[in-house]
Amino acid sequence: MEKKISRRAIVKGGLVAGAMVPVMGWLVDARAAAMPPLDPSDATAKSLGFVTDTGKVDGAANPTHKATQKCANCVQYQGKAGDAAAGCNIFAGHSVPANGWCKVWAQKPGA
Ligand code: SF4
Repeated sequence: MEKKISRRAIVKGGLVAGAMVPVMGWLVDARAAAMPPLDPSDATAKSLGFVTDTGKVDGAANPTHKATQKCANCVQYQGKAGDAAAGCNIFAGHSVPANGWCKVWAQKPGA
C-alpha cells in the first residue's frame, strides 16, 4: 500500500522540527543547570584531584598540569563554549565549573 505525503505535510513537519531545535538546546542547558555541583570533598572527586579552579591545582602533586587545562576544554565536558558549568562524563549527575580541573583532563579536539 502506497501512502502519499503531501508537500504541505513535509513543510509543516520541517517547521515543527526546526522549532524544536532551540527548545532542545534549552532543555539540555536546563538539565545541566539542574544538576548539583560536584563537591570537591566527594571521595571520587578527591581521588581524582578535582578542584573548582584550575589555578588552585597543587603543582607538586600534579606536575603535568598546565594553567590552560580546564573543564571547558576537556573532552569529558558536556557544555558548550560560554557555559559557566556543565555535566561531566566522569562525574555523572553532577555539574562541574568551566574553570575546574581533575586528573582525568584530556584535550577536547578543536578546543
Ligand atoms: S574529567 Fe574533564 S570535565 Fe570532568 S572534572 Fe575532570 S577536567 Fe573537568
